[in-house]
Amino acid sequence: DKYLSGLGRSRKSFGDRIRSLSNSFHGIDDDLLEEIMILLLESDVGIHTAQKIVDRFEENASHIHEYESMEDYFISILHDFYDQEQDGFIHYNEEGPTVIFMVGVNGSGKTTTSAKLIQYYKDLDMSMAVAAADTFRAGAVDQIETWANRLGVPCIKGAPNQDPSSVLVDACRYAKDHQIDILLADTAGRLQTKTNLMKELSKMVRVCDREIPGAPQEVWLVLDATTGQNGISQAKQFLDATQVSGIILTKMDGTAKGGIVLAIHDQLKIPVRFLGLGEKPDDLQPFDINSYLMGITK
Ligand code: GDP
Repeated sequence: DKYLSGLGRSRKSFGDRIRSLSNSFHGIDDDLLEEIMILLLESDVGIHTAQKIVDRFEENASHIHEYESMEDYFISILHDFYDQEQDGFIHYNEEGPTVIFMVGVNGSGKTTTSAKLIQYYKDLDMSMAVAAADTFRAGAVDQIETWANRLGVPCIKGAPNQDPSSVLVDACRYAKDHQIDILLADTAGRLQTKTNLMKELSKMVRVCDREIPGAPQEVWLVLDATTGQNGISQAKQFLDATQVSGIILTKMDGTAKGGIVLAIHDQLKIPVRFLGLGEKPDDLQPFDINSYLMGITK
């Protein structure tokens, strides 16, 4: 399955080590807690989140005999720590098009992820359209348009340097007129000037809501998992600029530090909605804590 193949690198480092600790387990002591701390830190969980997990591991120690192995106990601690139930569900518009904004810095995998989402929703028999609202970056419009053509969905674009908000208005109207289920808006990811980014995104939200009340229903931040803790500080800038409702972590297949998922969820308090596990359109999986934990351990 995709999770198992995509998370192979993390499983090799994280899973193999937790298993060897589990095999030589003889009780919870300071040495073991330290080993687990190191393991978490080396998986990019980050010091604050790692400490919380180690504390839980220690506090719940009286339950360890309920598990077949220390490894299984540890996995259950991670499972409860992530607490996916609190994430709730993705918001879809019952009355008309659902608009999803894609935000993220260049190179994070935003365009590829948009292509993957087109494929994902097409597979669910939903009608799609794409707004190429990243009008500033040379090539961005072409890139998303190429994917849209390849996947057979309409792409609404403007002239080079056209105001992204006006492209978005056109796209919203198109989506309404053509009974589109999901409109993906590829937005610019320039962080050089945070105020500009903030202004641009809030304008886009405003015009979108005017066309389709309640839209955008979702704003998804695309983060490159291989950037580790740096990605988290980058994410915080976006969180300051707009109301991000979900995270998509890309390039999970390219890192052995899959623990970043736990750090993101704990530190940003935003649901991880999808994982990017490769470069092809079908290398995207809805995030599921059980599959993820199996993928990095078993
Ligand atoms: P953008 O600048 O944010 O739009 O980034 P792109 O979508 O162009 O992606 C940048 C590079 O990352 C491309 O070479 C993609 O093929 C690659 N990429 C994106 N997502 C993934 C992923 O989940 N796994 C891997 N291995 N590569 C990815």
